[in-house]
Amino acid sequence: MTEQLEFPWVPSPTPVDNAASRTGKPEAAPRKRPAKAPPRATSEARQAVERLNEALSQRIPGPVFLRITNNASSIISTRRRADGVLQVHLHHMFLKAPDSVVDALARWVIKPRAGFAGDVIDAFIRENKGLIQPRRRRVIRCYPRGRNYDLRDMLDEINAAHFDNKVEAYISWGQMPRKIQRRSIRFGSYSPRDKVIRIHPLLDQDFVPRYFVRYIVFHEMLHAHLGIAESESGRRSIHPPEFKRMERAYPDYERAVAWMENPENMRRLLRPRPRK
Ligand SMILES: [Zn+2]
Repeated sequence: MTEQLEFPWVPSPTPVDNAASRTGKPEAAPRKRPAKAPPRATSEARQAVERLNEALSQRIPGPVFLRITNNASSIISTRRRADGVLQVHLHHMFLKAPDSVVDALARWVIKPRAGFAGDVIDAFIRENKGLIQPRRRRVIRCYPRGRNYDLRDMLDEINAAHFDNKVEAYISWGQMPRKIQRRSIRFGSYSPRDKVIRIHPLLDQDFVPRYFVRYIVFHEMLHAHLGIAESESGRRSIHPPEFKRMERAYPDYERAVAWMENPENMRRLLRPRPRK
């Protein structure tokens, strides 16, 4: 059995909103980006790693495997491998940790969530917060111009007509998924972190009416406009009453919903097609 403990510091990014989805069935969660490689090991750094490994091994019973990371989302994590070795991943800030902190680390690793040890570690992480590199911004490429519809034009038009030009967002056709789900489709999404609206590429077909694509763009712009509010219970409310009210007031709302609810349209949209 393996156990995994995480000591999170930087919260993971907000998941992308699940957008106008016909069945509400979520698609795969956003893929976790691989952690960046730790800084290049100089001989000095290697010695520091060896010293820390030694110090931890003296304090922790059983074999320990230490890995130094530059991972901003998990400063400390431990995992018991199948062969019994305790794998400890630590942010490189711990290379210069004083004995008191190494003691606390060992205690925390042996008995996770140990209160006092946790406090010492917390204080050390706070002091060394500056060593945690912010996540690098991803380069996002936008492809707004499709074969049938230019999303940028559409967004600008809707922005002027319904949002007083106040929505600041990028827009792009999404990538064609390798496998099309036969039963549901997520027409669009909005990522508050990157401010990118993505529209499903299957909507860029001539039988899909312009008013329907426009409605999906409007829906995602409404997310950008209202933000993702939290309800009183602390749960994220993706489509709060205000959202629904504004969506229903959109002139094409009813015929867009009618188009979407027509099984013939959905069948056509989701039918298997030869790969190009
Ligand atoms: Zn939505």
